[in-house]
Amino acid sequence: GPRSRELLERRAAAVPNGLYKAHQIAIESASGALVTDVDGNTFIDFVGGIGVLNAGHCPPSVVAAIQEQAAKLIHFSALVGTYEPYIALCERLNALAPISGPCKTILSNSGAEGVENAIKIARAATGRQAIIAFEGAYHGRTLLTLTLTSKYTFKKTFGPFAPEVYRAPFPAAYRMGVSEEEAVERCWEAFERILVAHVGPEAIAAVIIEPVQGEGGFIPTPREFMRRLRDFCTRNGSILIADEVQCGFGRTGTLFAMEQMAVEPDILVSAKSIAAGMPLAATTGRAAIMDKAHIGGIGGTYGGNPLACVAALEVVRMFDDGELLRRAKQIGAIVRERGAIWLRDIPLVGNVRGLGAMLAIELVKDRATRAPAADEVLEVVQYCAEHGVLTMRAGLYANCIRLLMPLVITDDQLHEGLDVLEEALHVVAQ
Ligand code: PMP
Repeated sequence: GPRSRELLERRAAAVPNGLYKAHQIAIESASGALVTDVDGNTFIDFVGGIGVLNAGHCPPSVVAAIQEQAAKLIHFSALVGTYEPYIALCERLNALAPISGPCKTILSNSGAEGVENAIKIARAATGRQAIIAFEGAYHGRTLLTLTLTSKYTFKKTFGPFAPEVYRAPFPAAYRMGVSEEEAVERCWEAFERILVAHVGPEAIAAVIIEPVQGEGGFIPTPREFMRRLRDFCTRNGSILIADEVQCGFGRTGTLFAMEQMAVEPDILVSAKSIAAGMPLAATTGRAAIMDKAHIGGIGGTYGGNPLACVAALEVVRMFDDGELLRRAKQIGAIVRERGAIWLRDIPLVGNVRGLGAMLAIELVKDRATRAPAADEVLEVVQYCAEHGVLTMRAGLYANCIRLLMPLVITDDQLHEGLDVLEEALHVVAQ
């Protein structure tokens, strides 16, 4: 529409091109799982602000909490003093984190900051420096987190990167063309080789992993692989960091994906859907570890801003009765059922996978070679947008379509969106 076009032109003139946008749309408002653009067109949202809106767009109780808080206190800074919403939220997160024993939490503004805090604390607690991160990982765009991130298109001219980060292969079974068991064995062998060829175990402060790899293509970490990492960290005195920025806060059918992994992390990072769109991240971990960062060493002006904290407290309350988690499992089952049909009927669809409602469809040019179909993904995303459904790509090879619809989506909206996606897959496959 004309108003969207005008805004897009203004963006091009005022904002650097380096800020990518998946869609040529300009948004005015949103509610639940629907967004409306400045020309009055409505879309079904399968992106959810990149996994931020599990509780839906503008949940009324969150809006009310923010409005009420805004009239009382917008900002104070936890570096200056204390205010109740910050403490109340940390108490709730400490109790909810899938970590036994006493926990503590520090708040910040973004997933990247939450991860940086985890790494700093792990280094302080161990007196070591080396970090092991995985191929296909995404941990953010600040210098340290961009170093941890494993996709060259994000990095390009931005080096030099931070030292003491080592890369291990991730058991991405479908991409590797082997069974999950075989992928685990091969990647574990590679992990052990790294300890001989690249960095000694005594130097390793932490291993950081996404329980479900997000940007890398929505690949759940095999439980057995997570178990071995846990075992290694325990024996070696290293810290296991779970980056749940994208997979956390209900996406996978449990509040945290680690609840489905049978082992505990030492530190867990949450962000995105934690506060229904307010900028907030939480780094939660064993109290004895969290207290190791020196006084004044962590924190920032805005981290745990009162508005973000009351929003998060309301989101936590929305998850309390378990209804949203049940809905996540239900959405997952519905999408998987449709995905099974696509796998049967559309050769372009190579793999449908994920955990709970964190699901992706991987497109391939040829099922035998599994050659990534990245252009086709863009065509599907484009077709869906033209037909009223917003989706977004993912994957190390940019050949996956990720589904991150708000969990409050209605059955009708979900089926309508999946119908459009199905049509798009058929059209592009031809
Ligand atoms: N970790 C993971 C797993 C993520 O998916 C992201 C964002 N996509 C980040 C960290 C970084 O979060 P932010 O963009 O809020 O800095």
